Amino acid sequence: MLNTADFYHVWRIDQSSNALKEEIKEHCHTDIEMCLECGKCSGGCSNAHIFDITPRKIIQLIKMGEEAKLLRMDALWSCVACQLCVDRCPSSINIPRIMDYLREKSYNQSIPASRPNVELFHELMLGHIKRFGRVPEALLSVEFNLRSKQYTKDAQMGMKMFFKGKLNPIPARVKDIKKVRRMFRNMPMQREG
Ligand code: SF4
Ligand code: SF4
Repeated sequence: MLNTADFYHVWRIDQSSNALKEEIKEHCHTDIEMCLECGKCSGGCSNAHIFDITPRKIIQLIKMGEEAKLLRMDALWSCVACQLCVDRCPSSINIPRIMDYLREKSYNQSIPASRPNVELFHELMLGHIKRFGRVPEALLSVEFNLRSKQYTKDAQMGMKMFFKGKLNPIPARVKDIKKVRRMFRNMPMQREG
């Protein structure tokens, strides 16, 4: 039987977990209470071998309201959005969408990314989509190498691709760039600090 202290502890977990659970439900259209804890997501995850927290555990931590831990986990920056977890999940829990949401929240709160180059890549790629409506690979590679100070990274492969006509050095813009920019205006990233 629960004594008063145990009851208070359980009540606190329940209260603190509700906020994050509800946010996930609203923004990711996923009810994590449907999770069966079967572990198929972790078993199928292409990057579980390098995750500090596996997908099944991530869902458990959301239920427990462990937001501070979730916003600082390395898995946020090593998930490659391959969708294998959601494909295998019997309850269709959209873990890649949840990872996106948590990553964005972590970014907006200016929490340092455990993998700064991954964060830099995200920033550059989104910046290019906003400017051109698509990703100009050559420009993205050059900017990424310069900003990450890895000046010769993949240079040989880049040259080969260029001479085979696979890389266009002049960025092309989509026809209706205004539509793309409107999309960005509707979903601004507001980083604190
Ligand atoms: S596969 Fe789905 S139901 Fe199973 S543990 Fe993962 S999230 Fe939960
Ligand atoms: S989307 Fe992310 S969490 Fe899901 S299987 Fe791929 S790497 Fe793992």
